[in-house]
Amino acid sequence: MGATPRLVLATHNQGKLRELRELLRGQVPGLDVDTQVVDAGAVGAPDVVEDQVSFEGNALLKARAVCEATGLVAIADDSGLSVDVLGGAPGIFSARWSGKHGDDEANIDLLLAQLGDISDEHRGASFVCAAALATPGGFVAVEMGHLAGVLLHERRGNGGFGYDPILQPDGYEISVAELSSEEKNAISHRGRAFRGLLPQIVKALQDQTAK
Ligand code: IMP
Repeated sequence: MGATPRLVLATHNQGKLRELRELLRGQVPGLDVDTQVVDAGAVGAPDVVEDQVSFEGNALLKARAVCEATGLVAIADDSGLSVDVLGGAPGIFSARWSGKHGDDEANIDLLLAQLGDISDEHRGASFVCAAALATPGGFVAVEMGHLAGVLLHERRGNGGFGYDPILQPDGYEISVAELSSEEKNAISHRGRAFRGLLPQIVKALQDQTAK
């Protein structure tokens, strides 16, 4: 019997999909996370123009749009780096801080140059994530997650993506790029936001089967 998708994550990022599947595994009776929790591409969900000015706004926008287009419970996230001394920037512009979308190396180079003269005690920064849920019944919810730390003066480590090599989480002597993926998921902004949303996701899926 073919499994019908029941939950769509508004992303094409397989790493995020894997994380969500692990979070949901065993949480909803009858839910086969490997076949019924899918990414946007698997159900032909549209790409959404993220034109809101907050992480919450963009996450909700994507979750709503993908839910409407597919008729499925939809989850979306929006995330970035917030630097204290820059008043919260790059924020929603994190992926394109250097001008070119998704150029992680150029984004880090620019940020390190901007903070060149800033001493350690003023290099506080956080990864921030908004995770949003939208259901065909019109219910929406959003949860935030943070990972606070300090910005290093140069890159360390090869793991992760984005700004991972230059954020040292509070309480650690290494960068996020030096954590294993399990260690990162346990403390990350995204892991925290998704875990915060978990009860609402479980309820939405249970309500779905009750119909
Ligand atoms: P998105 O929400 O996944 O599109 O992320 C937006 C941008 O924020 C990414 O391109 C990265 O520059 C940055 N970012 C978000 N999450 C992380 C993370 O876990 N590590 C490093 N950078 C991140």
